[in-house]
Amino acid sequence: MKKNATRHFQATMNAITATKCQRCGKCCLANCLSFATAEDLARWRQQGREDILHIVENCHAVWAGDHLISSEDGHYLHGCPFLTWEEDHYSCAIYETRPLVCRNYQPASSLICPLYLYRVRFA
Ligand code: SF4
Ligand code: SF4
Repeated sequence: MKKNATRHFQATMNAITATKCQRCGKCCLANCLSFATAEDLARWRQQGREDILHIVENCHAVWAGDHLISSEDGHYLHGCPFLTWEEDHYSCAIYETRPLVCRNYQPASSLICPLYLYRVRFA
């Protein structure tokens, strides 16, 4: 009985560790700025974040099948422009004011995240 409880505890701990964000940056490759809400835009205006607003307002993203392109000139929109590399992990350059879609994203909640399969296996 005690052995089973220990095994269960260990499996739970492994699952928690496995679903802790590894900061691989893959979830930021979807150009989440395209999903900025009215609330995000109002906050950035209030904060005077012209740098963010300029990018959002000039990207004009539209879906083309399974990826986003600019409706201006059709160029392929690769990941979020605020995704940065810091020595050994990816980081968000606008973390404190990142859009709601990014705040609400849970590690391992969708297939884009490499932790998804761990969650499915251990949950
Ligand atoms: S894809 Fe998952 S592990 Fe990678 S940064 Fe996003 S939440 Fe973290
Ligand atoms: S705003 Fe930050 S968290 Fe959101 S997609 Fe860009 S880099 Fe990732």
